[in-house]
Amino acid sequence: MQVLTAQQPAAVETNEQIFARVYSLVSGNAARGSDPPKVVCLLKPYVNTMGKLHLAAGTLEVRLHEMIASAPATVREALAWILVSKLFRKHAPPHFLLHYRQYMNRKDVRHTHQAVRRVRGRKFVSGPQGGHYDLDAIYLDLQARYFHPLMPKPLLGWSRRPSRTLLGHFDSAHNAIILSSILDRPSVPRLAVEYVLYHEMLHLKHPVEHRGSRRRVHTRDFLAAEKLFLGLKEAKEMLKKL
Ligand SMILES: [Zn+2]
Repeated sequence: MQVLTAQQPAAVETNEQIFARVYSLVSGNAARGSDPPKVVCLLKPYVNTMGKLHLAAGTLEVRLHEMIASAPATVREALAWILVSKLFRKHAPPHFLLHYRQYMNRKDVRHTHQAVRRVRGRKFVSGPQGGHYDLDAIYLDLQARYFHPLMPKPLLGWSRRPSRTLLGHFDSAHNAIILSSILDRPSVPRLAVEYVLYHEMLHLKHPVEHRGSRRRVHTRDFLAAEKLFLGLKEAKEMLKKL
């Protein structure tokens, strides 16, 4: 356990000290009087993740995104509570969750994160032309039917891995829509592919709303627009059968 000296007041706790203290409190070690584990902090070039914990052989390895490693102490403290609580399958105290979310939702923080993602984020693995479906053609078709003719076209591509859980996503950092390559198959009806692409196109049109600690991805306008898709119910049924 580290001992604070006069030159190192408690107000400037290191990340290691913060995580050791929070670990002791959450684990109940402090109450039992046992020593906290040895804590090692590492910086990781994460894209979306802000931190991960790894506990092995009495050492708690804390892997942090550089953005968080240099955030205000109260934010690092909040993340420590969130990550350590998760490690013990406990709920983090709500005020820490709120504080952390408020910080991550701050405009300057979002912009920094966006810039980091742009550099580090996944690069394109394939263009719009798949083995079976051409996303460019489907995009133009959907744009003509549902969107403004001048809506700027994003990059379109297929994912490297055929994910069943993430069928599509809009990557705002790269202004790109990626569809899971699981959809690029003759057995998948075109309507299902159209619906997934339509949903992601709506993300272009209806940006995420940030208010305080809240982040609304599917806004009221978004959901209303989604209902306009012809064959919505049918398409959703098709996707369930994948
Ligand atoms: Zn969505």
